[in-house]
Amino acid sequence: MKRWGILRGKEADLVKDLKETTLSFEKLGKKYGVSRQAIYFFSKRQGIKRPKRSIGHQTEECRLCQKLIQISKKPHSEFISIHTILEKMGTSKAKYFHHLRILRGKGLVSQRFGKFRSKRLEEAYAVYFKERLPIHTIGRMVGLTNFHSIIRQHRELGYDVPPSLYVSDGRKRGRVRSNIQRSNPG
Ligand SMILES: [Zn+2]
Repeated sequence: MKRWGILRGKEADLVKDLKETTLSFEKLGKKYGVSRQAIYFFSKRQGIKRPKRSIGHQTEECRLCQKLIQISKKPHSEFISIHTILEKMGTSKAKYFHHLRILRGKGLVSQRFGKFRSKRLEEAYAVYFKERLPIHTIGRMVGLTNFHSIIRQHRELGYDVPPSLYVSDGRKRGRVRSNIQRSNPG
């Protein structure tokens, strides 16, 4: 193990971690590539008062919180329904919301993550992101007549929905339409 002197240049980061996190000396040692003792002596020498571990929920050590963070890092995770998340986590709704609130409060997951309720919409969006089919085709596939207006509402709420290759790209569709009009005058 390296001695604490090797930390030079990273002392400020370590001081911040010591003051603001409850990570153990051992975990900090691993993070900074020094021994647990080196972190301990550094902390003593700097006269750092560490936050109490008993205050607040230890998200780094909570299996449910870690699983939630992992799911939230998937692409378009705000469109994963609560139903699916609960299945993946194998926990109760009450526990789920409890840990989700903690993570939101700490800013560890997006405010929109974990709110999505409709399994059908989740399916529709999954197809939309993956297959990029026309919106009305997807709507028909999953049995949603208003998928188009739902997408618009979600955009207004700040959800990140990339433009459809078929609809928002007006030129593509517009050209097709004007060709038809030109070939069928009157
Ligand atoms: Zn937790």
